[in-house]
Amino acid sequence: MTADGPLSIVAALRLAGQTHRLPPLEAQALLAHVLQCPRSHLYAWPEQHLSGDQQTDFLVLIERRDRGEPLAYLTGYREFWSLPLRVTPDTLIPRPETELLVECALELLKQRESATVADLGTGSGAIAAAIACEHPQARLIATDISAAALAVAESNFQTLQLHNIELRRGSWMASLKTGERCDLILSNPPYVAEGDPHLQRDGLPWEPVTALTSGPDGLGDIRKLIADAPPHLRPEGWLIIEHGLDQGSAVRQLFSQAGYRAISTHQDLELRDRLTKGKRPVDDVNNFD
Ligand code: GLN
Repeated sequence: MTADGPLSIVAALRLAGQTHRLPPLEAQALLAHVLQCPRSHLYAWPEQHLSGDQQTDFLVLIERRDRGEPLAYLTGYREFWSLPLRVTPDTLIPRPETELLVECALELLKQRESATVADLGTGSGAIAAAIACEHPQARLIATDISAAALAVAESNFQTLQLHNIELRRGSWMASLKTGERCDLILSNPPYVAEGDPHLQRDGLPWEPVTALTSGPDGLGDIRKLIADAPPHLRPEGWLIIEHGLDQGSAVRQLFSQAGYRAISTHQDLELRDRLTKGKRPVDDVNNFD
């Protein structure tokens, strides 16, 4: 608070830029969050004064942002597939690149009237929510090992009024019932190698480490998913896994060693490997049907 009382909106935004070098859009997002108003309000009422509490809250938030805490955790909000999602430090922050996984899944669902789709390790529920919105007639199963993450996913599904998603707590395929078969199994699992220097940057130290890392090569959970999915896939069912930019050939090899068919890697707009998919192994069609 200044000697003249709390700051005005325009002064608070200026302060965030000058003292904390916060980009204007981030400062606006934080102030709109504190004032519980849309960003347009800040433009419409630049001379409005904050209350003492609002100013204190805003100063704390810009300080935390300056120290590297992700904006999404400070506002508790992130948009994915144009859906407003609640996020907390119990969930990974949905990344725009994961929309590629949704696109790939929707493409495969085009031919299927009613489908069963499992999103394993759903976190905030981003992938399941996007597919449930686009495919109201599909049956979704969203799972996570973390009860805290499932609570966030549940609140997102409620807010978005998505009633075709069943939530289950469990580790990877163990959350599916014996004999339960899906048309698609999707996952954005942890895939960063333990000790990767990237984990110290870009806000990652604030994200749940269990959602980020998986063994010394980052492939621990991906190996499990590929090995354990076949009994839970319908004969023409697909497993789609997001992975690291440098893991495309290793993941294709894992799919191929396990006998999957039609294996392919999808790249993002910058032509970087982002996800790999494969159709259930033929052997399993004989073994399980
Ligand atoms: N893409 C994320 C990152 O590198 C990692 C997400 C994940 O492990 N699923 O920041």
